[in-house]
Amino acid sequence: MKIDVLEMTPTKAELVISDTNPTFANAIRRTIVADVPKMAIDNVEFHLGPIMDDDSKAYESISPLFDEIVSHRLSLVPVPTDLENYNYRSKCSCGGEGCPSCTIMYSLNKKGPCTVYSGDLEPLGSEQFRIKDDLIPIVKLAEDQALLVYATAELGTGKNHAKWQATVGAGYRYSAKIEIDTAKCDPGCSCVDICPKDVLAKDGRKLVAKHPEKCNLCNSCVEMCEVDAIKVTGDPSKLVFRFETDGSMDAKDILLKGLSILEERFEHLRNQLSALE
Ligand SMILES: [Zn+2]
Repeated sequence: MKIDVLEMTPTKAELVISDTNPTFANAIRRTIVADVPKMAIDNVEFHLGPIMDDDSKAYESISPLFDEIVSHRLSLVPVPTDLENYNYRSKCSCGGEGCPSCTIMYSLNKKGPCTVYSGDLEPLGSEQFRIKDDLIPIVKLAEDQALLVYATAELGTGKNHAKWQATVGAGYRYSAKIEIDTAKCDPGCSCVDICPKDVLAKDGRKLVAKHPEKCNLCNSCVEMCEVDAIKVTGDPSKLVFRFETDGSMDAKDILLKGLSILEERFEHLRNQLSALE
């Protein structure tokens, strides 16, 4: 298997995986979606009763949404995750009580009228845990309403809840194999213009596949060509694989972690098989 990177930004990756088959690509897809862990808010405590501001004005600790819905919305906020520094809470040396090695704490203190955003979550501790995507609306507070909550984030995987899924929109498609029969090709044909991905181009009077990697196998050019000069097929041994992240982790870190999880899993299987012999 060979991997070429077409695009790699903190939130998006596009790769060409060759000498492979869809089974391997699907194993990577499933692993990065369901098994790569990330931090997400799992526990939210709401202050009940009146909340006073600095001028002794009393606010009611309610919002237009049920507490459960506010908690749910908070849980889906992407929490910056550095996998090197965190353990699963259940496997942590603190015995699951919560400590800086397994838990990030946030407070949120807002008084209406206002909109509460993800960026209003104040990390208790290092500034590195401040929410990067700070304009996700959580709830709108009316006059005299206030929200005072303490939230704790912990490590989990997408297998248990979508809030622990750092990868979004993961998928792959066959890379296109475009064959052009230049002897049959009619240079006056408008197949170049009909291609929605600008794959084809004219080189003098000759038709060439200039960007075969962009082809999505729509076959518009094949349907347009009256002399059957173009043949487009999908190559199952060469796949274009892409995914995005929710911003909690870099796409590169997600991919590397996913591959190392797969490696560990196959190593475990190999050990079990050799024990049988
Ligand atoms: Zn701990």
